[in-house]
Amino acid sequence: MKLIDPFNRIHDYVRISLIDKCNLNCIYCNPVNSNKHFYRNNELLTDDEIIRLINILVRNLGVKKIRFTGGEPLIRKDILHILRNISELKKDFPLSLGITTNGTELEKNLHSLYDCGIDYLNISLDTLQPQRFIAITGKSLFEQTLQSIYLAEKMNFKKVKVNAVIINKINDDELIEFVEYFKNLDVELRFIEFMPFGSNEWQKDGFVSAEEMKNKIQTAFKLVKLEDDNRIADNYAVAGYKCKVGFISSISNHFCDSCNRLRITATGKIKLCLFSSEERTSLKYYLANSNISDEEIAERISQSLQFKQEKHPELEELLKLDNNNMLSIGG
Ligand code: SAM
Repeated sequence: MKLIDPFNRIHDYVRISLIDKCNLNCIYCNPVNSNKHFYRNNELLTDDEIIRLINILVRNLGVKKIRFTGGEPLIRKDILHILRNISELKKDFPLSLGITTNGTELEKNLHSLYDCGIDYLNISLDTLQPQRFIAITGKSLFEQTLQSIYLAEKMNFKKVKVNAVIINKINDDELIEFVEYFKNLDVELRFIEFMPFGSNEWQKDGFVSAEEMKNKIQTAFKLVKLEDDNRIADNYAVAGYKCKVGFISSISNHFCDSCNRLRITATGKIKLCLFSSEERTSLKYYLANSNISDEEIAERISQSLQFKQEKHPELEELLKLDNNNMLSIGG
């Protein structure tokens, strides 16, 4: 069985949030003064439930790519145990594994992640200025994050991406510096539009469109369009440089028509869209119950996909939603 929604989009990519908590307090994602609800540990999917879920997704539903996210996935203590268990699947199925992390806990885990079959690493870094890093994240962990990018790039991961959310008057003045800084590294810099979520105090004047980011970068560098199969980023080589750049225009030019992804929250709820406020079926009960077959769970996942909308709501609607925060959904 394949996961196909009512608009004939095949969903073969699933993002799983391993934990709803994070060790950083990024102003656009997990601001300190927000009144977010965190789940108790026993409400989260257990490692066995996650391993069962991934087996069902891959064996029964044809999922080809899994990305682990959070919260911060590397603060989940049993993450390597989960990965070791599922990496076996790669022998029999065309499965690739990725992780999105803030990099602060990455250095000590890099080799284990590689050994467990992680192919793609996305590391978030919004600034190259240590003081600004503290202002954005609330923590003095700039060096750790940067170091993890250097080390990861030297290893044999299929791709290392650096994610930067660009916000007007916060870090938009660093776009050119980012490209210059990473020019000798084989990394893909991904500049992401600032998205509104419940309690992240999104303001229109903080928004910088992907087009504006690209124009700014083009004042200093020659960008050469890459025709790759990436459906969500507009990707470019930078003439004469090793790094590449990509722009993610989730707000100004959404890419819903080619959406192939499903999200599972840390508590096991299916999120059909990053921006949908309602969380459909909760899988925790089913995954915990050995009397319920894998086939039945696969059927439930497939059925819930039938409620997927054609595209995410427009900006005005997104601003009214207050129960979708990035932290519990995972980016
Ligand atoms: N803790 C991990 C990290 O920092 O990468 C994974 C979770 S984080 C929610 C995943 C991605 O979402 C990060 O790259 C982060 O920058 C991005 N993100 C969070 N809030 C965002 C927002 N309001 N707009 C755009 N991107 C956002």
